[in-house]
Amino acid sequence: MSLRYASLGSGSRGNACVIEAGKTRILLDCGFSVSQIDKRLSRLGLTGSDLDAIVLTHEHADHAAGVARLSRRYGLPVWTTIGTFSACKDADFHRTEIFHAHEAFGIGDLHLHPFPVPHDAREPAQFIFGDGAKSLAQLTDVGNITPHIERMLSRLDALVLECNYESEMLRSGPYPPALQARVGGPFGHLGNDQAAALLESLDTSRLQWLMGAHLSEKNNTPAHARAALAKGLRCDEDEIILAAQDGETSWYGV
Ligand SMILES: [Zn+2]
Ligand SMILES: [Zn+2]
Repeated sequence: MSLRYASLGSGSRGNACVIEAGKTRILLDCGFSVSQIDKRLSRLGLTGSDLDAIVLTHEHADHAAGVARLSRRYGLPVWTTIGTFSACKDADFHRTEIFHAHEAFGIGDLHLHPFPVPHDAREPAQFIFGDGAKSLAQLTDVGNITPHIERMLSRLDALVLECNYESEMLRSGPYPPALQARVGGPFGHLGNDQAAALLESLDTSRLQWLMGAHLSEKNNTPAHARAALAKGLRCDEDEIILAAQDGETSWYGV
């Protein structure tokens, strides 16, 4: 079997990525319009009909805004926690499947192991994905790292990790104080320093690649994020992959 990941776009204006294991392919989050998803999927050689399901991490618009429409357009089931489902503005999904944020489940060939995260949404979850042999995780939209998250993320084959802001840029940037406090707070987003500290605390001996994601366009730069991740992993900066807001990445397999 094989396990691979491609970001379709990441940041405060929209998030979505594709994860594929064997014959199964899911979209994780859909913060874009159907036409944007179609365009970005097509450049990866896919259409919406090649997807088996949408999995939703939480109800914030940058992750959920396009989920219901895409679900109806391609007849896709949407997997979500009950809290996220009840907080969705448009939850008129083609079909709804509820998962528990502490219980592993499967969709076709793909193993999903969710874990709860501190973030200011109703019942947010992030995931480890596996094909039975290899595993990769995505961790974004998380205000602080809990011991449970740290345990979940050890010995992965690949990791997609939020690098939302550079502390000094957030402090001196354009956000009003209340929004600065929200983003930088324990239920907000993960900053470059926190991402680097997490990497230093993990067993990364099996890690084949690392992708930075959910970079703020106002409070971060790709150079800052790249430097922080390289420092945390003790690797060269050019080994770090970054997901961008306005376009997809290529496929990264493990
Ligand atoms: Zn987000
Ligand atoms: Zn969020």
